[in-house]
Amino acid sequence: MKDLIVQKYGGSSVGDIEKIQNVAKRIIKTKKSGKNVVVVVSAMGNTTDELIKMAYSISDRPIERELDALLSTGEQISISLLAIAIENMGHEVISLTGAQCGIITSNKHFKARINEINTQRLESELSQGKIVIVAGFQGINKENDITTLGRGGSDTTAVALAAALKAELCQIFTDVEGVYTADPRIVPDAKLISEISYDEILELASLGVKVLHPRAVELAGNHKVPIEVRSSFTENKGTLIKEEVKMEKVLIRGISLDENIGKISVLEVPDKPGIAFKLFSSLAEADIHVDMIVQNVNRQSVNDITFTVALDELQDAIEVAQKFAFEVDAQKVLYDRGVSKLSVVGSGVVANAEVASKFFETLFQLGINIQMISTSEIKISCIIDKDRGKEAMKFMHQKFNM
Ligand code: ASP
Ligand code: MG
Repeated sequence: MKDLIVQKYGGSSVGDIEKIQNVAKRIIKTKKSGKNVVVVVSAMGNTTDELIKMAYSISDRPIERELDALLSTGEQISISLLAIAIENMGHEVISLTGAQCGIITSNKHFKARINEINTQRLESELSQGKIVIVAGFQGINKENDITTLGRGGSDTTAVALAAALKAELCQIFTDVEGVYTADPRIVPDAKLISEISYDEILELASLGVKVLHPRAVELAGNHKVPIEVRSSFTENKGTLIKEEVKMEKVLIRGISLDENIGKISVLEVPDKPGIAFKLFSSLAEADIHVDMIVQNVNRQSVNDITFTVALDELQDAIEVAQKFAFEVDAQKVLYDRGVSKLSVVGSGVVANAEVASKFFETLFQLGINIQMISTSEIKISCIIDKDRGKEAMKFMHQKFNM
């Protein structure tokens, strides 16, 4: 659709009534500039956390279907309040839940993927000149049951809508000014990045820079949706994410620290074909995303296999690994929550050997032991002790002179 902008406001931007009214004013300003506007909002403040806490105070394993129904109410509160505010300021508006605006997802509760969006309703409301407010983070499956898209999933809703409606821009309004060269709460002299490519931001997003949901970035890259990440509290421009970025002479775009991971080692696994396949296919079947993998030769005819997963999947992964260890007669399974992943990201990483050398030299100077290493075209990551993570990030930022 021509002249269409999708805006997304996160939980902190709609944290109370006054903030909702400010957001309403911003939306109206965009509308008045001659744009069609679709707005995606998250639940107010910490609403989602509170809803989760309530469910878990009743049961250790709340029924997934009901948990999703519960969580989806958070966004429904904010869309209705925002619509009421906009109407009260004299503009035509309608709020829609995920189901009402045709967001069809897979069945996987709490981690559903958007399969399709039936845009008729959206298009008809827009063509009547209305501002459309959509509940983020939710959809319905083929059985008409409510699903949610995983924590932080409102970004994904916004990008998916922008792609489906062929919007000219997807603006993600948040409580920070954009994407930084490192987390500014840890590295005070981190700098705002003005433009960054999908590939680079995807690495930074999945490596723990919390500004954007990784799946949203993936989707934006696939559909070439330009995204602007900016503050909902200022008028500053923020960071533009798109395919091609101005070729500046930068080796490193950013440094990230992911503290949300756990490490599992299966010791003394028989050294024969099919063993890694068995372990990692069992993990895949359990829907556990494995990140880094290292196999080292322990002694003759046995290996140790070590891998990392997201912290919230650690328990499930341990259970899968223990079952595997029993079946193949491995010696034992160890796990560690006290690790973090430090990474440098940038399109210059692979072409410049000096990046890797400086990265390892910096860790050496701090006396930090490296537990695992992985590299790709645009990043180097290593697993280190969680206690030293922040310090390493700060020092690394300084060393690379960012
Ligand atoms: N309200 C959901 C959450 O807190 C979705 C979102 O904020 O994007 O995870
Ligand atoms: Mg949120």
